[in-house]
Amino acid sequence: MKGYHGKALQVDLNTGEIREVGIAEELLRSFVGGCGLAAVLLYKHLHKDLDPLSPEAPLAFATGVFTGFSPFSGRLAIGGRSPLTNLWGETTVGGFFAVELKRFGIDVLLVKGKAQKPVYLCLKEGKAELKDASDLWGKKVSEVSSLLKQKEGERVRLLCIGPAGERLVRFSSIMDENHRAAGRTGLGAVMGSKNLKAIVVQGKEGLPEVADQGRLKEVYSQTLDKISANPGRELWHTYGTLMYTTQGYELGDTPAKYFQEGVFPAFRISGEAMLDNYEVKNEGCALCPVICGHRVRGVKMEYESVAALGSNCGVFDLEGLLDAVEVCNEMGMDTISAGVTVGFAMYLTEKGVLKDGIRWGDSKAVVRLLEQIALREGIGDLWAEGTMRVAERLGVDPEEAAHVKGLEVPMHDPRAFSMQGLCYATGVRGACHMRSDYFTVDIAAAPIPELGVVPGDRFEESEQKVKMMVVHQNVKEVWNSGVICMLGMFDINDLCTFYGAITGIELKPQDVSNLGEKSYMLKRLLNLKLGMTKGHERLPKVVTMPLKKGGTRGFSPNLSKTLELYYRIRQLKEDGYPSEQKLEELGLKEFV
Ligand code: SF4
Repeated sequence: MKGYHGKALQVDLNTGEIREVGIAEELLRSFVGGCGLAAVLLYKHLHKDLDPLSPEAPLAFATGVFTGFSPFSGRLAIGGRSPLTNLWGETTVGGFFAVELKRFGIDVLLVKGKAQKPVYLCLKEGKAELKDASDLWGKKVSEVSSLLKQKEGERVRLLCIGPAGERLVRFSSIMDENHRAAGRTGLGAVMGSKNLKAIVVQGKEGLPEVADQGRLKEVYSQTLDKISANPGRELWHTYGTLMYTTQGYELGDTPAKYFQEGVFPAFRISGEAMLDNYEVKNEGCALCPVICGHRVRGVKMEYESVAALGSNCGVFDLEGLLDAVEVCNEMGMDTISAGVTVGFAMYLTEKGVLKDGIRWGDSKAVVRLLEQIALREGIGDLWAEGTMRVAERLGVDPEEAAHVKGLEVPMHDPRAFSMQGLCYATGVRGACHMRSDYFTVDIAAAPIPELGVVPGDRFEESEQKVKMMVVHQNVKEVWNSGVICMLGMFDINDLCTFYGAITGIELKPQDVSNLGEKSYMLKRLLNLKLGMTKGHERLPKVVTMPLKKGGTRGFSPNLSKTLELYYRIRQLKEDGYPSEQKLEELGLKEFV
């Protein structure tokens, strides 16, 4: 199929065998690459009794159909069984690795087994080799990056794990050389369990053929013109996600003190405060005309990190916050899960459950605890297990543990947008703000009017609203499969136009939703196979009980109502499985 090589590289770390295999065209056509393709390729290899940290557990690194061909297509998808949730784990990362992997001549890299000693995989000059990484083991992300560039050349792109991944911290991330993180679901620990420290790539073969090169060139240049003319581009370039801190605060969307407070000094950790007080450098991903990334005092910062390790932990001193994020970036840990887990420790200290615990706002103690977690030293060994397992081990009421399906709740409060809470409960990887980012519809940032998904009352819980959320969730599946950056200025019409030029297959917006529905349902079936039940689709009370003050004052989402509507609209049975009719319609019967 045009736009793909139609090839995967399989690496068996037990034996060192590396071989190329074909990918069926039907799978490429149905799942659009990325997260969807990773899920379907790994489906039969994942089962309930498989330990995600065992050698048998597979890991997929997948590019998408758009990779290398459209603006905002520099993202890579990574999938496997999550050691944090025990369910399907997927994550995407920006940067330059994905395009280089596709230029190497493959669409997907599949890894299984466990090397006897630390290794890195080197994909260069058309060759794939496993090389000794003993000298890299124990090193932080920036050290690994610079050593590998010295060894393999400045032009290589790379992914690696930090010390946290080596020590199997359940929320460890896979990092690129510029501290962009494939953060969620703990797949860094899966790499660590395989003794795979890094993957280095430099393309040779080039990108695959497209259906219409002339049309692709034309739509590319038209899209760039459209983005240049968009006044929002400059704002997004200047502040990136950091600009959301104050808006999120006003809406009651930015959590504080482990989701317990609605009023706090957001201005102290805002994007404006960072730009006023520090030297800030912009950094982008491949093929990005916006370049929204920011390094503040040399530390890669995003809104999610600011809120998770800042307001969520009561930390409002910028120096302390930067130090905390830097530890996560360098040790290779998801800032969201790390921040919520540390916030949980603070919450339990305040409640008297933990003696000599950690106090709100004590940024030095936060940094110390994060370092202990990354190395699993002392009490860090317990907190490295993540919020769900800590609650179980300490005998804390599960309603006080801020996670869904084991994944810590991100920095968009479910009380601020009813549909965001429903996204968390039904998300394919648990509490995830990117599957879908429905809050962007209600703030009128990224509606999809072509499919009737339009801004409205953010607290509304009607059937119509749930229908819109389902469509949005479907469409965002395609974004994560494509793999297109969800922060980019790229709408569903752009997606259809590029898809046509790349593959020669014309899509309409409704087709995108249909493709996404199939991907969502496949992952739902995979989660059910791995042990998910309807009982997992919940929101803990700690993130739903009404707050006395702030932008969500007095409001609590009615999840039982919206979940019931959701099950009806998606044609799900009481046990969470799609109806026979839905399975038939989507061509997924063979997966049950
Ligand atoms: S908008 Fe930001 S995250 Fe997205 S591709 Fe551009 S630089 Fe990367």
